[in-house]
Amino acid sequence: MPFSSLGLSPSLLKALADQKYTQPYPIQQKAIPAIIAKKDVLGIAQTGSGKTASYVLPILRNLQRSRDTKNRYVNVLVLVPTRELANQVKDVFQMFGSVLPERIKTLAVFGGVSINPQMMALQGVNVLVATPGRLLELVESNAVHLSAISTLVLDEADKMLNLGFKEEMNRIFALLPKKRQNLLFSATLNDDVNNINEVLLHDPEVIKIIPEGEQIDLIDQVGYFVSEERKGPLLRYLIKSKEMQQVLVFASSSFTADGVVSKLRKNGIEAGAIHGKKSQTARTKALSNFKSGQLRVLVATDLLARGIDIEFLPYVINYELPRSPKDYIHRIGRTGRAESPGEAISLVTPEEQPHFRVIQKKMGKWVTMIDSADFDMQGF
Ligand code: AMP
Repeated sequence: MPFSSLGLSPSLLKALADQKYTQPYPIQQKAIPAIIAKKDVLGIAQTGSGKTASYVLPILRNLQRSRDTKNRYVNVLVLVPTRELANQVKDVFQMFGSVLPERIKTLAVFGGVSINPQMMALQGVNVLVATPGRLLELVESNAVHLSAISTLVLDEADKMLNLGFKEEMNRIFALLPKKRQNLLFSATLNDDVNNINEVLLHDPEVIKIIPEGEQIDLIDQVGYFVSEERKGPLLRYLIKSKEMQQVLVFASSSFTADGVVSKLRKNGIEAGAIHGKKSQTARTKALSNFKSGQLRVLVATDLLARGIDIEFLPYVINYELPRSPKDYIHRIGRTGRAESPGEAISLVTPEEQPHFRVIQKKMGKWVTMIDSADFDMQGF
């Protein structure tokens, strides 16, 4: 799914391209359209998931359309627990906001520094990123008014509550207009966060991004010891005997990928390949046929697999192991889903065994190994 399908403006799309953001992260795919549609959002996601851009981009998009320019009446309020996060969030707003034809001013305010420069800088601010205590001081000095806020963001809400900001947050909520959009982001959904969710958010779009490390626990992983010559038959045997209907197979080179596909086809299994040597048209076609179920097996190399935006796959097979443990986790990650865990299978030759041990050690999890030597693979 490209950024261009999420409803962002041309100037934001250009800014994204300039920043080399090629593909939206999962949280961005879900949050951006919802926020543009003015929905409330509950995002359970950690730093590193791309959560900041997931709200900054659609908020800027909405501000391009309409903003209140009355001085000291800010339109968007982002509450954050720390000065560091305040500055980071401000930087992302400024990075994407500075290229827009509309003038959108962002300011970060936090305690521990002199208040006067912040009071002066509040002139003409549209987006205010603030820690709760300092914000209240500024409100009390009439340096900023909160009655024109159209969107409230609580970022790292769990951390704000842990740091004891609950009372300040409640005082701030009481100053906001009743009708507004609420976006709540938190690494965890504990009771306190859920309490805010229930009080503040209306029919939110709930987005939960499970960190890769935890996702691993949701995946059934298994490895098969196999000789090099029996890899092809074992692959076909597994696809047929487990009645796999949609399976992504990884190969380490375009050459192997093509070989695997042609063998599968000879055995009556609909398969296609995507790798760097295929034309863009051929890749797009293979992918859409795979998604629609016409193609039972898609054989991919690591590089091309990054562009496969299928949210969940029941089966991933490593015909050959990836070079790095990180790639291994990335490959199998698509099969982990809370409601229906998928299966990740690795075919491991004697030469690959030491490397597979390294992968498992890095991942911190040992994979059940099955010896395929006794399998009757006649006819596969
Ligand atoms: P965050 O979770 O918001 O702290 O973002 C983590 C990092 O990912 C930041 O350094 C962002 O610049 C980067 N980032 C966020 N979204 C994308 C994307 N779609 N493509 C590439 N990098 C991204």
